[in-house]
Amino acid sequence: MPEYDVAVVGGGPSGLQTARLLAERGLHVVLFEKKDEIGADVVCTGIVGREIFHEFGLPEDSLLGDLRTMTVVGPSGGSLHYEHPSTFAAIVDRGRFDGSLASIARQAGAEIRTGRRVVSVSLSSKGIRLRTRSDRGESGSCSASILVLATGIHHDLQTGLGLGSPRAFLRGVQSEAETTLDAEPAIYLGTGIAPGAFGWAVPTTPGRMKIGLITDKDPARCFARLLDVLRLDGRRGEAEAAARIKPIAQGLVARTSGERVLVVGEAAGQVKTTTGGGIYYGLLGARVASDIVMKAVQARDFRASFLSEYDRLWRAVLKREILIGHYVRKAFAALDDRQIEKLMDVARQDGVIPLVRARGHFDWQSGLLVELLRQAPIFRLFREIGRPPAFLKKFWS
Ligand SMILES: Cc1cc2nc3c(=O)[nH]c(=O)nc-3n(C[C@H](O)[C@H](O)[C@H](O)COP(=O)(O)OP(=O)(O)OC[C@H]3O[C@@H](n4cnc5c(N)ncnc54)[C@H](O)[C@@H]3O)c2cc1C
Repeated sequence: MPEYDVAVVGGGPSGLQTARLLAERGLHVVLFEKKDEIGADVVCTGIVGREIFHEFGLPEDSLLGDLRTMTVVGPSGGSLHYEHPSTFAAIVDRGRFDGSLASIARQAGAEIRTGRRVVSVSLSSKGIRLRTRSDRGESGSCSASILVLATGIHHDLQTGLGLGSPRAFLRGVQSEAETTLDAEPAIYLGTGIAPGAFGWAVPTTPGRMKIGLITDKDPARCFARLLDVLRLDGRRGEAEAAARIKPIAQGLVARTSGERVLVVGEAAGQVKTTTGGGIYYGLLGARVASDIVMKAVQARDFRASFLSEYDRLWRAVLKREILIGHYVRKAFAALDDRQIEKLMDVARQDGVIPLVRARGHFDWQSGLLVELLRQAPIFRLFREIGRPPAFLKKFWS
């Protein structure tokens, strides 16, 4: 008999939530995290939809503040102020967020082993066996009936088991800074600052902010330009620690289940393709994964054919969001600065902001994106760059 029902690899939100949900249902769960401390050194701004706490039963102790307004700054410095009818998102201290999730998972009975990197996985008819190593070189092993991989941007274990991995990545870069302004969150657009995506400056605690960007080009060079713009904008005070760069998965992953194994969270491409946000989709993935693992344990059926239900179910929820977001971001990436300015002009006109207010949702964006692309001026703009959103036609019916 394997020692555990379930072994989870990866102590980010997706892995921790999976471990928690399964332990709460009475399974014997172990989770391995290679870092010495859960939540340490995470590169993340920590913006999540406001409903996340209620929807996933999470404590609000990591909450730093709510977001309701935002300024969008265009390539030539012109800005657009947006105010949502209600709080649309929250900003959390990501280290504390992960730490809280770990505490809940532990209270539910999950065993969390930090400082343990899983270096290999082998499969037999009796279960799976993991080999672990610590930074000090100590080796260990453990066995379980089923494995959940939640390793974020590290894919060696899943590809070693013949599963898919994200094929495209954006690059995120972020640092923290003091700010002299008590300004509202700002998004920066332009091919000089964040080609292919956007930059941001988000106040966290009084006098401090997170600054960063995602791009499909050179992130370090773009970040230097963003700092120049922030200085001009009067937002940035003292320079801080060096910015940290991290890839962000983009797009659907081919196969996220196999014999005795499921992949969840960013490792499975469960990430918003518009903003690169992955916490919410990872928690959704964890919910679906834990339901399927539970069924598999009850039925004592760990075959790939049984577990493929996981692939089907999570795609039914997220595929449309991931695909539409991906295409729209790619189309946006093809705009030059003049066209981005034009897009902002269109947004200032009647009709667009009310539509965003009425249909905008922080995590479910495809409905609004399709509606926006249906607006004649926006449609014309994308046709101008040879990207008529023909691919969207199938979603329009
Ligand atoms: C600059 C930047 C800003 C971002 N801002 C936001 C934001 O505001 N909101 C948002 O929702 N998302 C944001 N994201 C994305 C978000 O951080 C990720 O999508 C999210 O962390 C994914 O969660 P996860 O649990 O799937 O993976 P992760 O959080 O990456 O966790 C994976 C864990 O697995 C561990 N691990 C990997 N391999 C092994 C192994 N072999 N053995 C043991 N442990 C292992 C890692 O150490 C890690 O702790 C941002 C990303 C970047 C780069």
